Amino acid sequence: MKFISAGFFTLLLFTTIFSQQRPPSESAMSRLLRYVKIDTQSAEDQPAPPSTKKQLELAKLLAKELNDMGVQNVRISEWGIVYGMVTGNLADNSKVPTIGFIAHMDTSPAVSGANVNVNIVKNYQGGDIVLPNDKTQIILAAKNPDLKNLIGDDIITADGTTLLGSDDKAGCAEILTMIDTLKQNPGIKHGNIAVAFTPDEEVGGGIDKFDIEGWGAKFAYTVDGEQLGDISNETWSARTATVTFHGVSTHPGTAKGIMVNSMYAAGDFLAQFPLVKIRPETTEGRVGFVHPYVGSLDIETSSVKILIRDFDLSGVAAKEKLLKQIVARTQRKFPQVKINYDSKLGYLNMKEVLKNYPQLTDYAIEAAKRAGVTASLRPIRGGTDGSNLTARGLPTPNLYTGGHNFHGKLEFNSRKGLEKSTDTLVNLVQIWAEKGK
Ligand SMILES: [Zn+2]
Repeated sequence: MKFISAGFFTLLLFTTIFSQQRPPSESAMSRLLRYVKIDTQSAEDQPAPPSTKKQLELAKLLAKELNDMGVQNVRISEWGIVYGMVTGNLADNSKVPTIGFIAHMDTSPAVSGANVNVNIVKNYQGGDIVLPNDKTQIILAAKNPDLKNLIGDDIITADGTTLLGSDDKAGCAEILTMIDTLKQNPGIKHGNIAVAFTPDEEVGGGIDKFDIEGWGAKFAYTVDGEQLGDISNETWSARTATVTFHGVSTHPGTAKGIMVNSMYAAGDFLAQFPLVKIRPETTEGRVGFVHPYVGSLDIETSSVKILIRDFDLSGVAAKEKLLKQIVARTQRKFPQVKINYDSKLGYLNMKEVLKNYPQLTDYAIEAAKRAGVTASLRPIRGGTDGSNLTARGLPTPNLYTGGHNFHGKLEFNSRKGLEKSTDTLVNLVQIWAEKGK
């Protein structure tokens, strides 16, 4: 038997004392199971948020739960955004910046979120998970490498006919459970904490109505990421290009020498894309792409819209240059068609701002470590509500929720995923209180 030093016992004693944190009055898992029962699917192309009134049902419930826990200044805005403020318990709360946490209430329009029937695989022992009400829906161990880290955990899925809605009701549950834990443990020191729950993240637009000033956070985190450890401080820098082809329309019976059919130029333009190596279907990781995603054809006017995505602005510029070369080549081939190129900024990589505030991710990584989670920074091949907020002056990286397979019937989370994500949030507000800036 190995010699065990007195130091080890001291460590053990400390660990025991610190782990005697009182549990929350309700676990994050229990909250999640209640929230997913409320259908909050958002809808595309609605004039104003919330795009679906049913999201307000969850908004009202979350506002009530915040009020019940004594959270200050709880309100639901005319756009369906829930705001609240947890007052700090420091001698001087103004010494620590107010930190915000945001989760979204809606679920993706891609798959139904109505009548979610939760399936819990208790004490998971490895292997594939066949979903009970549609046996063709199988969470394959081979395609979900994180499953091997969840042996012994309780896995939470839907029944195969809907999504689960862990994206992002897990984030909602974890933020509420963090507040609950702080309330049960007044010994945990923290500054002011702003919380918010937003509608319409999946369809865009909800965050445009976010009242940054009224909310009061100096820095924030979206709690909307995936597996334990994934923290993101990088998103695409995004532009959208529109290429328009102008021809001349006339009656086909008398068109000789007059008609200029813009469709041929548009078709030729598109036909050059398979030669472009940087497309969504050929890239991953840090490599950006150009992506024609919608268009219209007509004799007189045709148009193609193209997404331009890269993590670096220089990469975006290089892709615009490439598109303009394709336009020029097409123009030479079809001199009678007038081709216009136009592009608009969508959002900026949040890293452009977050690089000035490295403590946001440093503290999050430390908070993960204290929760027993090894964190790493993973760039998101998309945008988040945090991209919008960061661009508007509120630096907002993204934290994990323990979720997997978002927007589909194979979505899942786990008891440990929810608990460790919640612990990370509790640790994070303590670290901000310790460091003070
Ligand atoms: Zn989400």
